[in-house]
Amino acid sequence: MDYELTEGQKKLQQDVAAFCIKEIVPGAQKLDEGPREEVCKLMKENLKKLGEAGFLGSGLEGDAIDLIDCYIAGEEITKACASTYVSARSSVFMCGGTLKLFGTPEQKERFLPALMKAEMIGALAYTEAEAGSDIASISTTARKEGDVWVLNGVKDIVANALIADVLLVLAYTEKEAGAEGGMSLFIVEKDARGLDISDSIETMGLRGVPVSAVKLEDCEAKEIVGGEPGKGYEQLERILKMGTVGMVSFCVGVGTSCMEKATQHAKTRKAFGKPIGIYQEVGFKLADMFTYNDLGRMLGLRTAWAMNEGENEADILGSCAKLFAGESATKIANLAMQVFAGHGYIKGTDIERLYRDARFGEICEGPSEIQRTVIAKNELDKFV
Ligand SMILES: Cc1cc2nc3c(=O)[nH]c(=O)nc-3n(C[C@H](O)[C@H](O)[C@H](O)COP(=O)(O)OP(=O)(O)OC[C@H]3O[C@@H](n4cnc5c(N)ncnc54)[C@H](O)[C@@H]3O)c2cc1C
Repeated sequence: MDYELTEGQKKLQQDVAAFCIKEIVPGAQKLDEGPREEVCKLMKENLKKLGEAGFLGSGLEGDAIDLIDCYIAGEEITKACASTYVSARSSVFMCGGTLKLFGTPEQKERFLPALMKAEMIGALAYTEAEAGSDIASISTTARKEGDVWVLNGVKDIVANALIADVLLVLAYTEKEAGAEGGMSLFIVEKDARGLDISDSIETMGLRGVPVSAVKLEDCEAKEIVGGEPGKGYEQLERILKMGTVGMVSFCVGVGTSCMEKATQHAKTRKAFGKPIGIYQEVGFKLADMFTYNDLGRMLGLRTAWAMNEGENEADILGSCAKLFAGESATKIANLAMQVFAGHGYIKGTDIERLYRDARFGEICEGPSEIQRTVIAKNELDKFV
């Protein structure tokens, strides 16, 4: 058993960290504050910079997806700016990764290099007002008319929709066949007839992510991911399972940022004549933050390795890692706020922003309840 990162992985970590400190950190607060048009412009610039530096496609360059590289880059980008990572990941991993795994050779060629350089921005749209965790309940449908598919429905929360050039949209092509067999992922380009993404959404945290609803009114799409209808549900399930690694890197990135800022504050802030870190009540908070975060990272990297190797238990490890890191990020942000106390509660401070951003990890892409349900079922199934 060897827990050491390779020299190449260490270099990636150092390079992304150094780049993000210089190029991404300075805009993080501005991205959080808006206004919308500026946020969209700044986010596009951030993605472009990451693309030009070659970091946007970390883990996606080779024949297969290398989830360890995805994890490493994800944690470092999140540490610098959580919104930038969520936007980058939605484009390159959720949209680009799906195309890489399931697209036709022509689809990969057309979109992947452009997404990795941010010459194009991508999004993945499946959630609807009546269907979040329960993906099978979506109402969006697609019917074939001549050479094109015609989509109708509304996706109500889609990251990047406002700046996307290409969206992968989940729809039923044959409702009677059920989710497995009846759903397809459509490639919808931004100028498609019947596509409306004007409905911008304000979120509590991650305010730098250009989130919007996506309305499809007789919207025309020419292509399905992979070319064949009926495979959308399993394609989405696969990218969401692999996506647990990116979600953990997000949680640990937010956690690390909270921990570093709280530790710095505990060393410099004095109360009753001493740095507050001297007081056990404060020092123990730093100890808990470090422990939660380090365990989250270990689980995330273990999952990444297991998925790279195709281990049987990899998907369950992904659920465990997402569950633990998601809940840890919330706890760590809460502890950091306590260390900063009133000076962290002020709008415009890093801790206030991180506290809001952290909550994303526990509720999105399989909230904790769903992860627990999956893990429990897996355990129960072992003892039939
Ligand atoms: C910033 C942001 C960006 C997003 N980006 C995208 C995007 O790009 N594309 C996209 O399609 N979606 C996106 N989403 C939506 C996100 O994926 C969903 O919010 C998430 O999947 C959860 O769905 P929901 O909100 O409908 O919650 P629900 O599924 O309605 O769940 C509500 C509560 O019920 C619990 N629950 C549900 N079912 C069960 C069960 N069987 N057993 C026990 N508990 C259960 C859940 O755990 C949760 O606590 C985004 C959301 C946010 C906030």
